[in-house]
Amino acid sequence: MAVKRRVAIIGGGPAGTICALRLLQSAPDAGRGWEVVIFDRKVFLEFGPPGCNMCAGVIADTVMQQLEELGVPVPTELIQRRIEGHHFETRWGGLSLPKEPEATLCTVYRGLGPKGLGYDERRSFDQFLLRSAVERGAQHIRALVHTIHFPQDSRAPLQVHYGEGETLEAEVVIAACGVNSTLPTRLEQAGFGYRAPATIHACQAEIPLDEDAVTRCFRDEIKVFSLGLPGIRFGAITPKREHVTVTVVGPHIRRADLERFLQHPQVIRHFPPGWQIPSEYCHCHPKLPVTAARCPVTDRFLVIGDAYISRYLKNGIESAFYTGSLAAEVVLQNRLSRSELWHYYVRPCERRYRWDNLYGRLLFRLNDLIARSRWLTASRLRILRKEAAAADWETKPETQILWHLFTGSAPYRDIFHRALWFSLQWRMAQALWEEAREWLGVRGRRGR
Ligand SMILES: Cc1cc2nc3c(=O)[nH]c(=O)nc-3n(C[C@H](O)[C@H](O)[C@H](O)COP(=O)(O)OP(=O)(O)OC[C@H]3O[C@@H](n4cnc5c(N)ncnc54)[C@H](O)[C@@H]3O)c2cc1C
Repeated sequence: MAVKRRVAIIGGGPAGTICALRLLQSAPDAGRGWEVVIFDRKVFLEFGPPGCNMCAGVIADTVMQQLEELGVPVPTELIQRRIEGHHFETRWGGLSLPKEPEATLCTVYRGLGPKGLGYDERRSFDQFLLRSAVERGAQHIRALVHTIHFPQDSRAPLQVHYGEGETLEAEVVIAACGVNSTLPTRLEQAGFGYRAPATIHACQAEIPLDEDAVTRCFRDEIKVFSLGLPGIRFGAITPKREHVTVTVVGPHIRRADLERFLQHPQVIRHFPPGWQIPSEYCHCHPKLPVTAARCPVTDRFLVIGDAYISRYLKNGIESAFYTGSLAAEVVLQNRLSRSELWHYYVRPCERRYRWDNLYGRLLFRLNDLIARSRWLTASRLRILRKEAAAADWETKPETQILWHLFTGSAPYRDIFHRALWFSLQWRMAQALWEEAREWLGVRGRRGR
């Protein structure tokens, strides 16, 4: 029997597990056997942050499709809610925006469940991914990886040091450790040029509510808040089955900012009447990458997922799937030298995300700018209200822009170009004019 070559994957989140699944699915076809070892100390069977990869858990249809193609369809009990649209809230009012007609979006919980809620193993998305990889033949070592030794001799195996002084040798090592880990900093010291992505902070709370209250108050909509609050880039409330996930993002966000956000009149009005922030609730402070890592590869070593590159502020699981799948492809094609990895792995990832993320940054900045201006926000709401009356999705350019911006379901470049359309600019100018006329009319009536 042929000796299997070993690939060690550090991290059993979405990037690591999809990479393992692809390697195990394709290995027999490629005529080679790969032994796949996944390291992750987390078991997604603990309540609260220790058993969770801290995320809002909005899953795009592309993610579901990829899992289905791999023969591991997401079981229905894992789905917390199917999302019907967004509610867009600003300081000066808000409205519900429908979803793109064919799009399906749902919410899941990454870990076992928030502290204090009686969820069980069947609810954990990350546990489902990891279990699926193990069922396909991956070995899971429940341990923390401390360092990787890169040998001078290009034929010698790489060494993964983990747990209580143990070592595993592997021909290929893939780091899928995300950005909420100390491993990226240690990789920076390995000497091949890796620099971890820059990050910003989020504070996330899982607020328990009974199922009826979630349905009644949140109506299967993700609430997105552009309130222009100091220190908070944006906030969102994502409905789950028996709780809602509240996320606020900003450069130095803290729990106090999250509570300031929750107490804002435009936010608290979405909760049941008389609702108050509970004294205890499950919360976490994860980091989000906002740039790409530098030098994510060296001979027989690749960084995938958030620790390398992801879509700016949106759809991180989908980008983790992309980099994880591409990494599996280059391993199976045996393109493992540093230069081959640059050509066949880094370049396609950069083409897909790096430049597009610049447009994403610009769009989010524009959104912040509009959120701080009463005039621009009122004009945008006016356009959105007019579009709400139209039946055809194609005649709702501003609704489309916000849908794609909130879901990350189209390249940022396309959204940016759409935002520049003359017809939309013209409608914005008209809306501003109508807003100004209304304001002057009100002032005139007051003056008389
Ligand atoms: C507040 C917030 C909300 C988000 N909401 C969404 C959303 O709604 N939808 C979406 O698509 N994306 C969302 N994201 C982004 C998404 O969470 C990430 O893009 C995605 O999880 C990245 O996957 P990953 O596998 O690269 O890293 P991770 O999910 O971070 O997984 C890394 C894994 O590696 C393990 N690990 C780390 N270091 C070591 C080590 N030294 N040894 C062994 N194991 C290790 C960890 O335990 C973990 O399991 C959100 C992110 C944040 C912060």
